[in-house]
Amino acid sequence: MADKNNKSRKLFSPSINLNLNVRGLPQSATLTINEKSAELIRQGRKVIKLGLGQSPFPVPHSVIELLQENAFQKDYLPVMGLYALREAVAGFHHRGEGIPYRAEDVLIGPGSKELMFIVQLVYYGDLVIPTPSWVSYAPQARIIGRQIHWLQTSLANGLRLMPDEIERHCQKDPDRPRIIILNYPNNPSGCSYKTEELKAIARVARKYRLILLSDEIYGELHHKGQHVSIARFYPEGTIISSGLSKWCGAGGWRLGTFIFPESLHWLRDAMAVVASETFTATSAPIQYAAVRAFQGGEDIEQYLFHARRVLRVLGRFISKRLQKIGVAVPEPDGAFYLFANFNAFRSELQSRGIRDSESLCAKLLEDTGVAILPGNVFGRPEEELSARLAYVDFDGSKALAASEKIPAGRQLDIDFLKENCPKMVEAAERICDWMG
Ligand code: GLU
Repeated sequence: MADKNNKSRKLFSPSINLNLNVRGLPQSATLTINEKSAELIRQGRKVIKLGLGQSPFPVPHSVIELLQENAFQKDYLPVMGLYALREAVAGFHHRGEGIPYRAEDVLIGPGSKELMFIVQLVYYGDLVIPTPSWVSYAPQARIIGRQIHWLQTSLANGLRLMPDEIERHCQKDPDRPRIIILNYPNNPSGCSYKTEELKAIARVARKYRLILLSDEIYGELHHKGQHVSIARFYPEGTIISSGLSKWCGAGGWRLGTFIFPESLHWLRDAMAVVASETFTATSAPIQYAAVRAFQGGEDIEQYLFHARRVLRVLGRFISKRLQKIGVAVPEPDGAFYLFANFNAFRSELQSRGIRDSESLCAKLLEDTGVAILPGNVFGRPEEELSARLAYVDFDGSKALAASEKIPAGRQLDIDFLKENCPKMVEAAERICDWMG
């Protein structure tokens, strides 16, 4: 009997049966910190949740209405997506970038994350990403078995990827197939690119025929509403990735979009094959509702105006507050993230047993209840004392309503934040006090 048990234990052991690319891989850090924070709250702890990057704002009313009206839609939709939605997404990017996209250029998926996985699966090339980068690009490449190359950025350049860095990497093996991911406004730093920088990156991408996956999921959350896509300068090699999750406050709805130039329709078609054999099609009612979001209109513009205005003042306030005590943190241009470097505090932190970003965040959570994510999950060196703060733990409906009462020409101020985003102000103070 004992023998038999041993044998079955062996048969079902993860070290024998798990795919080597998945073995030892932890669950995604963004989702894990969210679940851990929720668990601590269940246990009665007060936690300020700056871990998961989830929009604090509600889904715009008109989009919710359309979802309600379409709850009855029960049929499987085409693999590439509802035609009306593909048209709306093409129109959205056409309006934004002036590129004459068509519905045929669009692929809809259950979240842009899934589409990113599939594009890496079907395209046989290395993944090239800057450090820091969003937590899931590299694990996806690892699961598929692709090589990953991290390119350096610097605080002096606001953690943005510089074209020389791409050039240096590509010239070592010019013909190698590669996907490069450029994400702006950026997760985890909030930084974006100037037009001249985008043009310079586009020149290198064209020279080495890179597939440029331009992750613009935060594009509409550029704090000044000035997002520009690199697709304008490298249209033939750029896929723009977007979705409802961030600017439309609908992360849990799971709807992502890719738009391709005609020259990359073969990639779209290959992705559709995988889609047809895996997720089949994206949820029908969600797709019908998303048409409204991508068509836009005055109410969506107003919603975005106020969301940006709140995020802008919040990002400025927290980054300035941290800078004041000596934390190195670039002021964000968009999205709802800050990437902070606490290396200046290394010796004090070391005396408290903190030697790396993991222990920094674990101890901060334990001592102050502020949950943030360690820099190492964004591809930073283990020992760097860096972390991402997602400034999203506030009542977005309340903040939007309060912003609506303030004239458009006026900036929001600290009193607004104390009233409408009190936990964010408290989190900044707690972090600064804790640093000593
Ligand atoms: N993109 C969000 C983040 O970085 C959450 C969603 C996810 O990671 O899947 O926190």
